[in-house]
Amino acid sequence: MSLLDHLQAKLNAIGAQSLTRSLRRADSGTSPRQTVNGRELLMFCSNDYLGLAAEPAIAEALADGARRWGGGSGASPLVSGHSAAHEAVAETLSRWYAPHIPDARAIGFCTGYMANLAVVTALGDEHTEIFSEQLNHASLIDAARLAKARVTRFPHADLSALRAALAASTAQVRLIVTDAVFSMDGDLAPLPGLLALAEEFDAWLIVDDAHGFGVLGKTGRGSLEHFGLTSERLILVGTLGKAAGLAGAFVAAHATVVEYLLQAARNFIFSTASPPAVEHALLTSLELIEGPLGAARRANLVARQAQLRDGLLALIARHPALGWRLPDAATPIQPLIVGGNAEVMALAAALEAAGLRVPGIRPPTVAAGTARLRITLCGTHTAADVDALLMALERAAAAQEMAA
Ligand SMILES: *Cc1c(COP(=O)(O)O)cnc(C)c1O
Repeated sequence: MSLLDHLQAKLNAIGAQSLTRSLRRADSGTSPRQTVNGRELLMFCSNDYLGLAAEPAIAEALADGARRWGGGSGASPLVSGHSAAHEAVAETLSRWYAPHIPDARAIGFCTGYMANLAVVTALGDEHTEIFSEQLNHASLIDAARLAKARVTRFPHADLSALRAALAASTAQVRLIVTDAVFSMDGDLAPLPGLLALAEEFDAWLIVDDAHGFGVLGKTGRGSLEHFGLTSERLILVGTLGKAAGLAGAFVAAHATVVEYLLQAARNFIFSTASPPAVEHALLTSLELIEGPLGAARRANLVARQAQLRDGLLALIARHPALGWRLPDAATPIQPLIVGGNAEVMALAAALEAAGLRVPGIRPPTVAAGTARLRITLCGTHTAADVDALLMALERAAAAQEMAA
């Protein structure tokens, strides 16, 4: 069989399940109002939770960084790619996490996917057992597959199942790995309980805070600040392409852990460092996150979350026959669970026809029968924006009820 025939057969099978994905072309920058395929839409789908991607100060800092540093970094960090701008970002983040991780040090990566691969494969050696939460992000799942460690999965947010698995473990080193905010459900991992188990069973807790960084905590430091956690056993992965509005990621952990990543993480050692201009702009982003602008955007997010949840719960109550559900989620990720794949795609299409973009999420990204609209809020959405979404959903719900 030729490769092309082989691939076409697989593409046909994806199409037959209505699971074909396609690219949309953005014709303007990320913001609640974005031109997509030539048409302006009100967006409820980006992870730019604070609206910083569109913040003029960030664009200015990026331009200033490019004038100062030029284009790319030219090499991997240990060769010549590590600039003063990279160092300043790492030092700022080390300071941010010092209250949460004794002897904290931070190390940068180009993406969160890379940071997760680094930390899980470098620490997950043959002497280690990884305890992986069921709903972890694909990058953590891939990282665990690549690691030499034995991998044990535990059910979502199930501390007693994890306790039993830890108690049964005979590995020399135990790593608990979890998302802090689950990306398709918006709920928070029970981090205090997970950390208590780590302390009890001499395990380490790797927390992927991709959706908490910038959003949670009084000064936006994420889930560790939100829960007020402090422990040497915490290994935090934060991403800088979501709420920070730029690109990149970091690991903050005890200095010995970070030193080991620098020596042993193959995708840190053998990959070109991020452009220094991006690092230069990240310094501005970090200042904005912890300053008054960040605080105001976080306060607006909380208000819009409450407005959206109140509206969705009232809508669900008006249309019980549709069987829609809104699980508890105290984050900007609000999943409206619709159930069927065809229903959710029809709903997303109806919203798009009305000028709103909310992605439908289907299996295998989520469990069968729980297809959903993944609504994400941004700190620059207005009350009128959320009302527009609620009104469009009300019209779509009425139409689906009539059709049923
Ligand atoms: C987005 C995401 C990542 C990957 O981060 P990138 O910087 O986009 O590569 C990792 N973990 C979670 C939970 C994410 O949502």
